[in-house]
Amino acid sequence: MKPNESQLIAWRRELHTWPELSGKEFATTARLREWLQSAGIRLLDFPLESGVVAEIGSGETRVALRADIDALPIHEASGVSFHSRHPGVMHACGHDLHSAVMLGAALELKAQEAQLKGCVRILFQPAEEIGRGAKQFIKAGVLEDVQAIFGMHNEPGLPTGTFATRGGAFYANADKFIIHVNGKGAHAAHPEQGVDAIVVASQIIQALQTLTSRSFNALDSVVLSITRIDGGKTWNVLPSGVEFGGTARTHDLQVRAELEQRLRQLVESIALAHGADATLRWHPGPPVLINDPDWARFSSEIAAQVGYHVQTADLHLLGEDFAYYLQKIPGVFVSIGSASDFGLHHAAFTPDEASIAPAAHYFAQLAQQALQHLNARCCEPLLN
Ligand SMILES: [Zn+2]
Ligand SMILES: [Zn+2]
Repeated sequence: MKPNESQLIAWRRELHTWPELSGKEFATTARLREWLQSAGIRLLDFPLESGVVAEIGSGETRVALRADIDALPIHEASGVSFHSRHPGVMHACGHDLHSAVMLGAALELKAQEAQLKGCVRILFQPAEEIGRGAKQFIKAGVLEDVQAIFGMHNEPGLPTGTFATRGGAFYANADKFIIHVNGKGAHAAHPEQGVDAIVVASQIIQALQTLTSRSFNALDSVVLSITRIDGGKTWNVLPSGVEFGGTARTHDLQVRAELEQRLRQLVESIALAHGADATLRWHPGPPVLINDPDWARFSSEIAAQVGYHVQTADLHLLGEDFAYYLQKIPGVFVSIGSASDFGLHHAAFTPDEASIAPAAHYFAQLAQQALQHLNARCCEPLLN
């Protein structure tokens, strides 16, 4: 039985109308619990502040499906009738759509529960946008006894009916850094009496861009962007300090570690050369998302079976906290075309709702066949 499309769209719209920020998804959690329970699906009792974990089937073999449920601090300008009723908060990343997809997969799996060759655990995870939800879920024990995990993101740049994934690195290490330059304040007419933190900061910023282009292999993806700079209050005073920061994106844990180290050396030595001092604070975000190559092949094969146009995905420079699950157990993260004219995190983002029901059916099929595959425990290649 394929999921009822109009029901899934109605659920997606209700989530869309009432979006909640990361870590505050309490009403969303209550809605998901109610919908799952009214379908007779059992909920598991993990120590969670928000989010829901459901399970269907019985036995030792177990796979997990994951949706994220949080929204963004964006004021919606999509013009849809079911637009956000929470001013300044919007499902602009499509996590409402992901939730509807996994609800649909849950319904389809529930209808076939007697034939399931194991358990399917379904994770409705909070706080993806701030990179915390997956870690909280793992700490709460949701991956215990799970042998493989599957998740998706909608891809506005791909047409509806298109599926893409890749084995190995997919999404990036998405790290944040903050640099503080301490100089010495002075009258703007007498810079010689101070240490100009603005000049030091500007030299560091220039040198950072050279660092990425001159110190790393051109085939390593390294992006370093300064997104914020804060120093000085008026026109005739040299400030004593400047703070600036941004993000670093890479696809390799070693390149990431080297970039942090080189950045730190550069910041400290340029400051020293000018008689200032500077500190770098590095806040690691989600690590590079690494898909298991065999599960990537398997998931693509199932996608073709259910009628998707299957592509090999390009590397992403976005971060995705599903990466934390894949550091613990094998699995795969995939892109499902959602054909929006406006991209993720845009106030006018409008994904195609026709992408929901096929994705729900796909994940139900993927989970079922993954259980059969795990039960067969064969050491042959997954599929020809
Ligand atoms: Zn997002
Ligand atoms: Zn997202």
